[in-house]
Amino acid sequence: MQFKWNVIFRCERWYSINTVIGVQLRYNYRAYPDASQRRALASAFGCARVVWNDCLRDRKEAHAAGLPYVKSAELSRLRITKAKRTKERAWLADVSAVVLQQSLRDLDAAYRNFFESVKGKRQGSKVGPPRYKSKRDTRQSIRLNTNAFSLQENGTVYVAKVGDLKVKWSRRLPAAPTSLTVTKDSSGRYFLSFVVDTEPSILPEVETECGIDLGLSAFAVLSDGTKIDSRRFLRRAEKKLRRLQRELSRKIKGSKNRAKARIKVARQHAKVTDRRRDFHHKASTQIIRDNQAVYVEDLLVSGLGRTRLAKSVHDAGWSSFVGMLEYKAVRHGRTFVKVDRAFPSSQVCSACGFRDGPKPLNVREWTCSECHTVHDRDHNASNNVLVEGRRIVAAGRVETSNACGAPVRRAHVPAQRGEAGSTRKGRTTQAGFPGP
Ligand SMILES: [Zn+2]
Repeated sequence: MQFKWNVIFRCERWYSINTVIGVQLRYNYRAYPDASQRRALASAFGCARVVWNDCLRDRKEAHAAGLPYVKSAELSRLRITKAKRTKERAWLADVSAVVLQQSLRDLDAAYRNFFESVKGKRQGSKVGPPRYKSKRDTRQSIRLNTNAFSLQENGTVYVAKVGDLKVKWSRRLPAAPTSLTVTKDSSGRYFLSFVVDTEPSILPEVETECGIDLGLSAFAVLSDGTKIDSRRFLRRAEKKLRRLQRELSRKIKGSKNRAKARIKVARQHAKVTDRRRDFHHKASTQIIRDNQAVYVEDLLVSGLGRTRLAKSVHDAGWSSFVGMLEYKAVRHGRTFVKVDRAFPSSQVCSACGFRDGPKPLNVREWTCSECHTVHDRDHNASNNVLVEGRRIVAAGRVETSNACGAPVRRAHVPAQRGEAGSTRKGRTTQAGFPGP
């Protein structure tokens, strides 16, 4: 079959079986600090913020004065070690030094991302320069390495200068965590988020491959014809969220009722996010299990985000779904390819390759004017993605072998529920890290 591709496709990243590596997963748990621990955490959040802001100011001022970038060693000496001995910053000594050092390290990382984004070395959307943090930020956090936290025999988590935190272990950690982030969200809940290095777990090989078209009418359409609908429970939860938001907007600013309504909105938001993530996890796991290779169109989400469809695009959460497919493919030894579209593949006939011209969004079905095949719009698009994905892999294997060695972004991705062992009925699972 000859394809008349008059489109330029570009492959961003692809992985094959040769590039199986471990993935860093994030495991989140709710924590219940007591009153004194909450006070200790509040001051840790505050100190981390002050170090961040002090160091950021130094760098900004140096930049404005045309001076070189202030090195972190210098900032660490000046803004942490020396600052503790001054009257205005003496309280920095009350919190773990690890928290302060980590805050500076996070600032370094934020700068690194910004510089790489400016130089065009970074994929994805543009990253702006680091910003000052505020007491009023909805999410407050501190980050710790293993020097400043440990998992206790009794199921609590020891955090330096805070104490033993009570944690609801909704599932087991598969391995010893390498870092911990403690956060407080806008509805006043505390969470512990552990980063765990996981070993690859290769799934038995299968024959099938699939192309995926992400859309708004159906959440995803696979090249085998499967349609994954957006879940109804998700839509119901979103409806409720909209109602709560309307109620919030009617409350008088600064009133107690407004504060209550704000917390309600934040809780509902969290619910929607959790449910959507679960839905994405289920769908992505299924796809990765069933297919040896997965090809996804690379959506121009940022482009769509400025259009009328912005809200629905945001709701669908495609990018997090694609991210899950990617890390699961890497982890389970599947091939994953992002097919970057230069124009909507819904215009091309997947049977003969003829470009049939633009189709408005309401056209769900069309007949190719060249070969007269009747196409379902989304199914046709996913077939095109499959064909192009295969072409990229075939070309990549022949043209260049180091394409396989493409470095994988070591992103911290949320671990899947149920992936890491299950809870014992009615009891919290044991803290700790013996293998599942
Ligand atoms: Zn055709």
